[in-house]
Amino acid sequence: QWIFMNGEFVRKEEAKISVYDHGFLYGDGVFEGIRAYDGNVYKLDEHLVRLYESAKSIMLEMPYEFDEMREIIAETVRKNDLRDAYVRLVVSRGVGNLGLDPASCGTAQVIVIAEKLALFPRELYETGLEIVSVATRRNRPDVLSPKVKSLNYLNNILVKIEANLANVSEALMMNNEGYVAEGSGDNIFLVKDKVLYTPPGYVGALEGITRKAIIEIAEEEGYTIKEEPFTRHDVYVADEVFLTGTAAEVIAVVKVDGRVINDGKPGVETEYITERFREKVKTDGMQ
Ligand code: PLP
Repeated sequence: QWIFMNGEFVRKEEAKISVYDHGFLYGDGVFEGIRAYDGNVYKLDEHLVRLYESAKSIMLEMPYEFDEMREIIAETVRKNDLRDAYVRLVVSRGVGNLGLDPASCGTAQVIVIAEKLALFPRELYETGLEIVSVATRRNRPDVLSPKVKSLNYLNNILVKIEANLANVSEALMMNNEGYVAEGSGDNIFLVKDKVLYTPPGYVGALEGITRKAIIEIAEEEGYTIKEEPFTRHDVYVADEVFLTGTAAEVIAVVKVDGRVINDGKPGVETEYITERFREKVKTDGMQ
């Protein structure tokens, strides 16, 4: 396996970073998770726009132009002989001293890893997920915008720990007002009376690229979509619930805090949208 590191491809075993890297010391950096389907990198430009905007927001200077970065991603997939892959792009502030001042750091480090990934076991896509809501709150948008996909994923990790403790694969976090924000690494959708609901970005959800793709598909298919805040109650009484994300793709949720959704089976609208999504990813990408 070949890893792209700051301008060259190195073997996985040799891909090492300094302990003085501020991504390691402070979580100072940004990242993206991207997928390739059958040799096409899906929605690459949208992922890179989010990355460059996240970098700009935290005043991190990207050492590569947008077009160079596109080529690096595509080349990493090709170099590893992958057709279907999960690509992790990490940009850290770089190597500095022990102080947190980013001014001590040299150039940002750019690392690209491409490999096969299955986030949830295959059978969970058939049966649907059981999830719980947890105490961890999404960080406030006025502190650090949820649009910034930064390397600070501690809230998300705490969500995952709470999910593990509850013996489920994923969990839901609220914002400080109690509105449902998102999962640890995925966005949430509800279906109620044929209308699709998903929390707006300002509630505290990352504006997921899969979320956007699902909204586009649903619009094409004539669904009404409402981006509005909702509470756990609305989740409990939804006809269908599903999660979306680059790693998760689209996955049905069949139980939330012990409340059974849709008789405990993935719903018909969820299955239809999932199917349309799977068709779309094959044609919508960069070689
Ligand atoms: N929410 C969080 C916190 C995430 O980390 C991710 C994954 O990137 C998502 C949602 C889903 O976003 P996307 O569909 O762009 O992968």
